Order: sequence, then C-alpha cells, then structure tokens
Amino acid sequence: MKKQLLLVCSLFCFALPSYAQPTPVEKHGSLSTDGPRLVNKNNQPVSLAGPSLFWSNNGWEGESFYNAGVVTTVAKDWKASVIRAAMGVDHSGSFIESPENNRLKVESVVDAAIENGIYVIIDWHSHHAEDVEVQAIEFFTSMATKYGHLPNVIYEIYNEPLQKTDWHKTIKPYAKNVIDAIRKIDPDNLIIIGTQTWSQDVDKAAKSPLSGYDNILYSLHFYAGTHKQSLRDRAQQAIDSGLPIFISEWGSVNADGDGMVDLEESMRWLIFAKQNGLSQVSWSISNKVEGASMIKPGASTWGGWSKDDLTPNGIFIREVLRAWED
Ligand code: MG
Repeated sequence: MKKQLLLVCSLFCFALPSYAQPTPVEKHGSLSTDGPRLVNKNNQPVSLAGPSLFWSNNGWEGESFYNAGVVTTVAKDWKASVIRAAMGVDHSGSFIESPENNRLKVESVVDAAIENGIYVIIDWHSHHAEDVEVQAIEFFTSMATKYGHLPNVIYEIYNEPLQKTDWHKTIKPYAKNVIDAIRKIDPDNLIIIGTQTWSQDVDKAAKSPLSGYDNILYSLHFYAGTHKQSLRDRAQQAIDSGLPIFISEWGSVNADGDGMVDLEESMRWLIFAKQNGLSQVSWSISNKVEGASMIKPGASTWGGWSKDDLTPNGIFIREVLRAWED
C-alpha cells in the first residue's frame, strides 16, 4: 500500500508542475538583441505584447491602477507578456515633484510583474528628459541595483523626445550618460531609447545608432487614427537597415489619445508588427474619459474586470493580447 502511494505520488506529484503553463519569463528568460531581432534565452525570436499604464502622476487618472491586482489581471486574463509602468516625470504630481510616492507606485507594478512571471518596462515618461538627466541617472541606478539581476526588467529611458529635440545633439548624449550609469550595475537587461519626434524618427536612429552597447532598442510610437503607411514605410527601412525597434507605446485612436478605435488601421499596424517580429505595448490602462482609456469610469481600479468594465479600446486590446502568440 505504501509502495503504491509512493508510486502514485512519484507519477502525479512531480509530474504536476510540468502541466502548468510556463509564464512568459519562465519560457523566454533573459532577452537580448541579435541584429534587429529581439531574442530569448535560446536565441529564438520573441515578440512581447501588453498594455501600458497611464502616467503615474499623483492625482491623475492613472495612478490608482499601479497595483498588483491590475498586473495579475493583465497577466492571467489578458495574457499579456509585458506591462509598462509609465512613471510621470513631467507636469504636476510627477516623480520630480514627488519622487518617493511615484517610485513606490512603479515598484508595486515591477514587484507584481516579477510575481506573475511577465516582463515589465520601467518607463521614464517624459518629453524633456534631457532637462532632468541627473534625476534619471539616480533613478535608473537605483532600479538597476534593485532589479537588474532579474530577467523581467526592461528600462525605457526616454518616452518621447519632442520634434525639436535633436537626435544627435541632445537625445544621444543623454542616452549615453543614462546607459553608462545602468551598465555599471546591470550589464545586460534591455534598454529602450526614445527617438526624435514623439518616438517616430527611427530613420535618424537607424542612420546613427549608439555604438558600443549591447541589448539596446529604439522606440517607435504610433497612434493608428493619425499615423499610417508613411510611418510604417519609415520604420520598415530602419528595420531593414538593422535597427532593433520596440513599439513601447501605440494607440488604436488619434495621437491626442482621444477619438474612436480605428480598427482597420490598427490591424494594419498589428500585422506590420507581427511580420517584423516587433513587440507592442498599447496605451493605456486608465479610466480618464478619452478614447485610449481601456477601463470605464467607476470600474474597479484593482483589476478583475468583466467585459462590461472595459471601454471599446479595452475590449479590443484584450482580444489582441489574448490572440498574440509570442
Ligand atoms: Mg541584468
């Protein structure tokens, strides 16, 4: 009898974990770049997909969504492999005004992403990062120290430089200084750099990428209601020339974050991302009254949503993520 029990247990108890679906991080481990491709621990191409949180600023519509309930819901129900913590650095209630409070919100999302086995982007959500380089270096140094040994974490050091912010004179020198600070502590995790003109001028980055670093990607942002084939053509050229691109923010609506979901153009963009093996993170988990928001006002800010809690964009993005195979 005892022997039989032992046999049953050796078959069942030890076999059980192998039936559980591996988490994205269990499956892919440490990510790196190989030419323009993002690859996993086995050097296989990987395409991450997930939502971005809204600006974390105190008193804004996004801050209450920075919690473990939201991260667990997007990992388990939306099947996201990544989530982006968009730490507000500009405007009122930002990290510059209130660093500890914003850091804690970001850390709660990072800790929950680690717990759920998904990737997490720590995004310096600014349009003027070069003005706060000292703070950026200090912040990313502390994030690298705390999380740089884990495969989950991706650093995004500049959300969207403005149109007038020069790639050569301003963005590259800033990026180099912040990357140097991160690399002193964390030699390998992915780092995403924003490109000129709200992260659309990937052609400028392709002509003059940063040299001497590994695992650097350049961001491409688009809003399907506004940006169309000409931006895809520009991105395709950059990819063909060897630039690793990461879509760290896109919207199905207009570039101002409002308007209706442009389903047709969104599908063109998603096919483009898929064909090129790009990762895509969409804007945003928030209940602000605008088209890009995925959660209806009044719905829980702790996740566990039903379809009725989601806006048209929320319903669309959840479907996209559940169907996205990495
Ligand atoms: Mg590392």
